[in-house]
Amino acid sequence: MKNCPEMRLDQFMEKANAAYYEKRDPFSDFITAPEISQIFGELIAVWIITVIRSMSKPDKLAIVEAGPGRGTLMMDILRVLFRSAPDICQYCTVFLIETSSRLRQIQENTLKNYEIEIQWLDSVYDIPTLPLIMVANEFLDALPIRQFIYRGGKKWDENYVSQGNMFHKPISQLPFSPVFQRPIKVGDTVEVNEAGQDIVQYVSAHICHYGGAALFIDYGYSSQVWGDSLQAIANREKVSPFVSPGEADLTAHIDFPSLKEIAEKQNVTVYGIQTQGAFLKQLGILIREKILLDHVPIEQRNEIRSSVQRLIDPTEMGDLFKVMAICNAELCAPPGF
Ligand code: SAH
Repeated sequence: MKNCPEMRLDQFMEKANAAYYEKRDPFSDFITAPEISQIFGELIAVWIITVIRSMSKPDKLAIVEAGPGRGTLMMDILRVLFRSAPDICQYCTVFLIETSSRLRQIQENTLKNYEIEIQWLDSVYDIPTLPLIMVANEFLDALPIRQFIYRGGKKWDENYVSQGNMFHKPISQLPFSPVFQRPIKVGDTVEVNEAGQDIVQYVSAHICHYGGAALFIDYGYSSQVWGDSLQAIANREKVSPFVSPGEADLTAHIDFPSLKEIAEKQNVTVYGIQTQGAFLKQLGILIREKILLDHVPIEQRNEIRSSVQRLIDPTEMGDLFKVMAICNAELCAPPGF
């Protein structure tokens, strides 16, 4: 992709990230919540069990994870499920949505000790027609975005990439209706994650028809914000998104209010947008931390304390990361909100 021809920003981002996840170990570049502490996955497992217990028992249930990375989150979930709710494991199949063949192999290895059927799918659109419980942590932010720049009146430009540089071109028609909740001024950038919007719409319709719930966790906004949030990370440093495509992880902030609006049109109930810190505290992260601290040798205690702080502190991941749950309208409110 080095000397890539001119393409729209979303097309560039899709190609660059596909190459990146296929060949690099993303976790040498950035660290995600399940990799910081096993408590994260254990609390998500508690969330899943609580939601499943509030449903009328299905014959079969799909536990779906989109973008499972190394498989760490699913490993922590399955460990708790097998220990605390083995009856649920009897009727569940796990579906992992993953495009990278390299990461699929790593996930298979991480999960090999769990006696539960696991299937890999290329996309959310392949999920079978079953009630589902879905989790997606830092999945939506890796999906391609389009960027539009307001030029005044009815005029807009769109961002393109060519030969390591971004440039913009005027467009004749916007792919969305420019109705905004706050004023927009000339030069402002509006980002649209069309792939993420389509996925949220599809999953919401699925939940409305077949039952269940989905939990989306990602960094992003809880109210409408303008601006360029595209970033590239390589070796834990910010780099230019355009210079070495495929060598850095490209992400953008998630516009949760738009996703919430899209979901609500599908007759589901949406909970959140909640901060990750508040969500994890409501799920009992501080109690779980205390129990762990009482059971580990002194030399491990500081590490546990600092990883919990990293997940919930407002100056770390606690406020930046947001949580949104999409639930079948017949379910009662899930924990954490
Ligand atoms: N959820 C994991 C990993 C986040 S990294 C964690 O919290 O640690 C993003 C993950 O999404 C990777 O597994 C990547 O391969 C996957 N991914 C990125 N784009 C995708 C797409 N379009 N379809 C399916 N998976 C995708």
